[in-house]
Amino acid sequence: MANIKVAVRARPLLSRELESQSPIVLDIKGQSTILFKSEAAVAVGEMRDASKEFIYDHSYWSVSSDDSHFASQEQIFSDLGHHILNSAFEGYNGCIFAYGQTGSGKTYTMMGNEQSPGLIPRICDGLFKGMKKNPNQVSYKVEVSYMEIYNEKVRDLLKMSVPSSNSPQHNLKVREHPKEGPYVENLSRHQVSDYQAIEELISIGNSFRVTAATKMNDVSSRSHAIFTITFMQAKYSHDIPSETVSKIHLVDLAGSERASQTGAEGQRLKEGGNINKSLVCLGNVIQALAEASSSSKKKNRFIPYRDSTLTWLLKDSLGGNSKTIMIATVSPCQYSYAETLSTLRYASRAK
Ligand code: ADP
Ligand code: MG
Repeated sequence: MANIKVAVRARPLLSRELESQSPIVLDIKGQSTILFKSEAAVAVGEMRDASKEFIYDHSYWSVSSDDSHFASQEQIFSDLGHHILNSAFEGYNGCIFAYGQTGSGKTYTMMGNEQSPGLIPRICDGLFKGMKKNPNQVSYKVEVSYMEIYNEKVRDLLKMSVPSSNSPQHNLKVREHPKEGPYVENLSRHQVSDYQAIEELISIGNSFRVTAATKMNDVSSRSHAIFTITFMQAKYSHDIPSETVSKIHLVDLAGSERASQTGAEGQRLKEGGNINKSLVCLGNVIQALAEASSSSKKKNRFIPYRDSTLTWLLKDSLGGNSKTIMIATVSPCQYSYAETLSTLRYASRAK
């Protein structure tokens, strides 16, 4: 259980929500996130019946700045990003993924923007800072990859399909190495020696991400984006060389909303189906891992990694000694009540 942490992050109201005056239906107290039926229900004393309470490792509130649970990008990094970073220096694999409906703050949390960088740039920056601090008997190598899973297919966000084209190489195969675990065949890995080099790769990758308009958000992401850092440390202790390789997967999942609610049809519906398949499988894997770690028959528990491209790819960073963090992002508005409830339930399966 200790290896999977779950955090919920409520984003602030967007201007359209402020305009429509959709009531706030979330409250956060300590580790607990409470979802109300509506403010009106609270006012007439139906709060107890109408509210649902969920307990997570962290519950973050971004609505009012005077609230003690207000979480800046900095706070999220120091609570969650550091944990993964420190573990990577100790040789562990790690994975952080953001789950939630479109528009709930996944990309803001993982990538952020220029004014407020999110977890991916902060972790990359922290990695280079950490290497500088460490003793010089250790030599390091950092490689990054950036891919997305769209319709269960993998495409490389850092490599064009042909040199002159502006579309990324797509439909790469996932294979499994007997010792090193699953990997994507022909996925480009870029060795980087400073943060700036990573920044450039991130911006190339981001420009390739597949987006399509849905009724819920003008430009919404229909794909899972996976940013992977491979961190190699070579040490000499008493003249004996040893090498450790840690992998960190940082995942901005596709929107969790159901296809029916976004008015999806045809191609969009097919995307929706596949997106849900990966998300359903991820939920199953996380739940199986949580159950396995709380039961005595640890070793016999079957974990269904192979059921989706996403879970297969993340296999070496989910379970075992890996550190896994799920950040469930939610809107605080009444308008999103049903999706928020489903996100909170999904997140509680990891407990
Ligand atoms: P998603 O990736 O889940 O579709 P975004 O990350 O794009 O959602 O967030 C939707 C909007 O809300 C963006 O304009 C983003 O800047 C804003 N936003 C999301 N989370 C926060 C937050 N915690 N603080 C401030 N703004 C946020
Ligand atoms: Mg997004």
